[in-house]
Amino acid sequence: MSVTISRRTALIGLAAAAVDPFAFARTQKDKPVGWAILGLGGYATNQIMPAFAAAQNSKLVALISGHPEKLTRFGAKYGIPESHRYTYDSMDAIASNPDIDVVYIITPPATHPEFTLRVAKLGKHVCSEKPMAPTPADCQKMIDACKKAGKLLQIGYRSHYEAHNLRAIQACRSGELGKIQSIRSDHGFNIGPGQWRTQKALAGGGSMMDIGIYSLNALRYLSGEEPIEVSATITNPPNDSRFVDCEDTVDFTLKFPSGLIGHGTSGYSWNPGKNRYEVVGSKSKLVAELATGYYGNHLTVDGKDLPVVENNQWAAQMDHFSDRIRHGGKVKTSGQEGLRDIRIIHAIYESARLGKPVRV
Ligand code: NAD
Repeated sequence: MSVTISRRTALIGLAAAAVDPFAFARTQKDKPVGWAILGLGGYATNQIMPAFAAAQNSKLVALISGHPEKLTRFGAKYGIPESHRYTYDSMDAIASNPDIDVVYIITPPATHPEFTLRVAKLGKHVCSEKPMAPTPADCQKMIDACKKAGKLLQIGYRSHYEAHNLRAIQACRSGELGKIQSIRSDHGFNIGPGQWRTQKALAGGGSMMDIGIYSLNALRYLSGEEPIEVSATITNPPNDSRFVDCEDTVDFTLKFPSGLIGHGTSGYSWNPGKNRYEVVGSKSKLVAELATGYYGNHLTVDGKDLPVVENNQWAAQMDHFSDRIRHGGKVKTSGQEGLRDIRIIHAIYESARLGKPVRV
């Protein structure tokens, strides 16, 4: 598929260059960015891969998986030729595939650093899912590897590209709500047993790493501030086999430089779950519920609907990175953004362990 297309593109470009010497460079710059998906699990196959249909400048061109059967199944579904299907053993060959610009890593968090280092070394840009990695040191290694290879790194914080969240940020910054006086964010659900999400070695932690990170990240992007101190309490239900290795409910506060206190929660045993944030200003109150859902996000100000035109947040996230790859500029949800959250999560764990506030 793409071999033919890229040859055709090259021929068109060269023909155009005969009359306009800059035309070939322009056709390359306008070419959609080629994405390979690494890890064909639930999020990759249900949310990310279907979103390419709504993308403007991002194209699904390759698949990388530990399961040959998935490569066959999803390769056929998305028209990816066998030459562009790789296993973890054969993926070093992506280095010589010019159709692939970026690899999107969608595997358990503990695997993100190793795959990122490998992909950057193979000369491709990296998008890694959240949480970026289990520890700040892992995150730093990922940042350093991409920098050394001259490649960009994006973390899959889809809410930064989602229309309701962008509108909520605008409401917080524009003064519509007055001065922000109080802010809280709650994210939790009821997790099934036996998943990698409750195994610390793969997940890096428990609910805080997986779902509480939405509460934390929202408190940061809504306030526009970075916390200087955190306090936290962790509560695990006794005799629940899901929580022998990881945390369940986390209650945390973030102290921001302005004096604002952010309140956050996270949970893995909540039934029903919760996906919500609330910002109280000196003039008005904004409530988002759902706040960071895949679909169905909803905003109110003082109880009245705040209308927002929905967008495809996954396509917007990928198109942003594709644009930065083609045209340069700052990546909105960079490795630094991922690292900040992981640093704060570790401070939250430390505060809960010590039973006192911890400076970030
Ligand atoms: P999943 O269990 O459905 O899929 C994980 C995939 O990784 C599977 O294909 C599995 O075979 C593969 N895998 C498992 N262990 C591996 C290992 N040791 N090495 C290599 N591959 C391995 O999980 P998921 O829900 O798709 O989550 C994957 C990543 O995406 C996680 O980082 C998760 O936090 C993130 N995620 C993000 C969102 C979001 O909204 N941004 C939503 C869901 C998941």
